[in-house]
Amino acid sequence: MVVLRSYVSGSWRAPEDEGEPLHDAVTGEEVARISSAGVDMRGALEYGREVGGPVLRGLTFHQRAALLKALASHLREHREELYALSARTGATLADAKFDVDGGIGVLFGYASKGRRELPNDTVLIEGDVEPLGRGGTFVGQHLCTPSRGVAVQINAFNFPVWGPLEKLAPAFLAGVPSLVKPASRTAYLTARLVELVVESGILPEGAVQLVCGAPRDLLDHLTEQDIVAFTGSAATARRLRAHPAVAGRSVRFNAEADSLNCSILGPDAAPGTREFDLFADQLVTEMTVKAGQKCTAIRRALVPAALIDDVAEAVRDRLARVTVGNPADPDVRMGALAGLDQREEVRRSLKALMDAGRPVFGDPEHVEVVGADAERGAFLSPVLLRADDAGRAEPHEVEAFGPVSTLLPYEGAAAAVELAARGRGSLAGSVVTGDAEFAREVVLGLAPWHGRLLVLNAEDAGESTGHGSPLPPLVHGGPGRAGGGEELGGVRAVVHHMRRTALQSGPAMLTSITGRWVPGTDRTVTAEHPFRRYLEDLRVGDTAVGGPRTVTLGDVEHFAEFTGDTFYAHTDEEAARANPFFGGRVAHGYLVVSFAAGLFVEPSPGPVLANYGLERLRFLTPVKPGDELTVTLTAKQISPREGAEYGEVRWDTDVTNQEGASVAKYDVLTLVAKRPKHD
Ligand code: NAP
Repeated sequence: MVVLRSYVSGSWRAPEDEGEPLHDAVTGEEVARISSAGVDMRGALEYGREVGGPVLRGLTFHQRAALLKALASHLREHREELYALSARTGATLADAKFDVDGGIGVLFGYASKGRRELPNDTVLIEGDVEPLGRGGTFVGQHLCTPSRGVAVQINAFNFPVWGPLEKLAPAFLAGVPSLVKPASRTAYLTARLVELVVESGILPEGAVQLVCGAPRDLLDHLTEQDIVAFTGSAATARRLRAHPAVAGRSVRFNAEADSLNCSILGPDAAPGTREFDLFADQLVTEMTVKAGQKCTAIRRALVPAALIDDVAEAVRDRLARVTVGNPADPDVRMGALAGLDQREEVRRSLKALMDAGRPVFGDPEHVEVVGADAERGAFLSPVLLRADDAGRAEPHEVEAFGPVSTLLPYEGAAAAVELAARGRGSLAGSVVTGDAEFAREVVLGLAPWHGRLLVLNAEDAGESTGHGSPLPPLVHGGPGRAGGGEELGGVRAVVHHMRRTALQSGPAMLTSITGRWVPGTDRTVTAEHPFRRYLEDLRVGDTAVGGPRTVTLGDVEHFAEFTGDTFYAHTDEEAARANPFFGGRVAHGYLVVSFAAGLFVEPSPGPVLANYGLERLRFLTPVKPGDELTVTLTAKQISPREGAEYGEVRWDTDVTNQEGASVAKYDVLTLVAKRPKHD
């Protein structure tokens, strides 16, 4: 008998009782037993806070990203084992890949984002410095620091691998330890995943814990710095949100709940068009992948009233070709639901939906099954309903969490938007059309009700990841019924695990605290040009001053001719005089930037390896022939790159004229070598 263990406070704990049986979705056999009896929930949370948190906070974003990447590679080596176990949840190989490869992909995605979009630092400085006083001695800056608690991650049964990994990745990158609580029904797969994570030894101890079985008093011990990320039904979300510890201690609570996602066919997409086929294919995919047990699956298919017969026929034909049965059989396209109780739940919801719509395809009580016993396994036919009265409440309110969708007719874009909004907030929606005007009207109407929208047509179909796939760089979550949360979403999701603090002080103090040079702080003009300094020897505030250099009319004319930029403001005195901003010929902005580079550069070979861009460039005062330019270049931020022989240096650049007025401001971005190892 396999008994699932929890991994808490640094060791694997078997339950103190026999636990409840978990069943194979295909054969009905017992797979494992689950119970959390004897698990010290308070102790686990304290362990996360006291052991995992400090170690994680000691690592930089780049170091954490490197560990995520190593973990992703490790799990990739064990994919086959996870696929095999997935089959017991009723998943086909394609479903399993969606879950397992999708989860590993999230780890890789966050590893890459962490390296590219976050600093090699332990905290995140967010946004610009805000001037708060006229004299420049009082400024503000937002600072994000990791929460000092544990990210409690409560997952739904349908994605036992992707679910925990998509929550773990941003929490880990933020420097916050995770406590994973899988849904019991498929917890044996998540438990194996966590075993692989722990066995690998890649993540620091305390970074991940696992509780298998009922959460019991887990939430009672939450404190102000803990975070709850919940995925599951709207009903459970409501209950947990109102938990006294969550509500009373203002615990940050994110919910990804169920939703009645819609897909809308455009009126241009008549039979014979590519969009018509895309719509029908996508609907069938969404109904059958994971046997429709996907929070993002299409539950409502809105089609122009004039096309509903054609759509019904096209989808029926496609569904008729879907083989249902044992996922181990390579011919099977749709496996089983996660369990017999889940099938009963879907049948109950179907009953309610059938008050409003009649089946176009499928019988909720009967299905042809290949390679398995239709009654012992949790098999269900895909069921497509058609509700000719689109105003009925049921299709907009009842989620059948299985291979079920309802066709609804609409007349005109405004009606489609109004019907979609009756879902009261969804995770994902799609509009299948090549008509840009229709797409714009529907997208702008739908957007406030949706976390993610896909416009699908011949242009993007080849590369589209489809209606139902959440993606790590994009927001996953939705308003209202969908839970009101945002889970994935790139760096947004990382910052969700951090506390944002508005810091007010003088510029020098801000520079000392954040390690990033803030204008108004003293500069250090060194005898040695800062371009001669290796990364380790450079300090924020190190400054080079170049100039002055007089800009002549000849320079402007030469630059115009040389580059081909003969815009009238630089070449035609009379026309330039009529320009309200210039009142005469002015130097090209790019000439100013080029002269500035000539003034600040230290040309001989040295530690500066490359200039890889400019940011925040603004031309502030026109430069006229005769003006004298001076440039001040100050090391603003120094970011060593993990595992590389160089780092990035951002230089604050201020080009001024003879009156001291700034004519251009920008950041120069360079790569600077670390000191050679033998030095
Ligand atoms: P569920 O019954 O709401 O359970 C979700 C999770 O909450 C499970 O881990 C469950 O644990 C746990 N839970 C239940 N009561 C709890 C309590 N009092 N304290 C702490 N945890 C508690 O949902 P489900 O049946 O697993 O999943 C199906 C639903 O999830 C569908 O409605 C679907 O739309 C939704 N879903 C949404 C998303 C999304 O991203 N928005 C993704 C997938 C699924 P036990 O299993 O041990 O009871």
